Amino acid sequence: MAENFLLPLTGSFAQPAVGNPTVAMIEAAFRHHDLDWRYINCEVAPEGLGDAVKGARAMRWRGFNCSIPHKVAVIDHLDGLGESAEIIGAVNTIVARDGKLIGENTDGKGFVKALSDVTDPEGKTVMLFGAGGAGRAVGVELALAGAAKILVVNRSRDRGEAVASLIAGRTPAKAEYHPWDQTVSVPSDVEIVVHATSQGLYPNVDQMPDIDPDSLTPDKVVADGIHNPPKTRFLKAAEANGCTIVDGLSMLVGQGVIGFKYWTGIEANPEVMRRALADLDL
Ligand code: NDP
Repeated sequence: MAENFLLPLTGSFAQPAVGNPTVAMIEAAFRHHDLDWRYINCEVAPEGLGDAVKGARAMRWRGFNCSIPHKVAVIDHLDGLGESAEIIGAVNTIVARDGKLIGENTDGKGFVKALSDVTDPEGKTVMLFGAGGAGRAVGVELALAGAAKILVVNRSRDRGEAVASLIAGRTPAKAEYHPWDQTVSVPSDVEIVVHATSQGLYPNVDQMPDIDPDSLTPDKVVADGIHNPPKTRFLKAAEANGCTIVDGLSMLVGQGVIGFKYWTGIEANPEVMRRALADLDL
């Protein structure tokens, strides 16, 4: 039989693209699952995004990721959106389905997947710190996964209120905004605490969100969206208090597993992906 020199392509469009570790994680999974596929990490400026998507379409890429600053702008170049991407209003994973490019959002789905290893969000009360792109995606997906109530805590009131009303208006969950102008104490009935701001992200590793550590009691599951460093100061404080913790690396791996399944139909081995990221020494 003749060799097949035509390899299925996937990749990522972002700016900057240089520090994006997704290529290492996805290509490790391709190798592990004997798929001769490629993931091409591309630097794409905002003014080039339309051409980049046209290129992916013309070359019949199987799909691609979009990261900062393209997650909202890419929607104008696609043929349709998945349910949660439509509610969130942002896309980070594009999938070629029957010749159409469909936008999905795996930021929050990856988080829920990682969280579900330790607890089921069904019926739970959640306190969500942060209402940026990550907070919005995580809040919507937790609500769609059955969380009963989500308290959205954010420094800027407008973004916080917008996420709370999005959740309350478009999902079955209850949601309300809680200001963050002083130290916030997590109420005793909150079962899941999610930190989704950028405080503590490398290189600002000494930053700590203004949350009363004594209110992080051992009955709570505490998650942090930051994957670099994998264990933030906040997560260390929660762990020291006896909380069950979920780190941002698990969220990144959860996203990778979901995107991989969208593109290839295969359930990727999360351990292989996590090891590929760990080997990078982030
Ligand atoms: P955005 O810029 O969209 O939002 C930033 C959020 O952080 C806002 O809620 C902002 O509040 C808050 N914030 C920033 N600085 C402070 C501060 N000093 N005090 C209080 N609040 C602050 O970023 P993203 O939502 O896209 O990303 C947030 C984090 O999530 C990043 O660390 C990112 O690395 C991580 N992330 C992780 C993913 C993963 O797979 N592990 C996926 C996506 C993101 P305000 O509205 O008041 O400005």
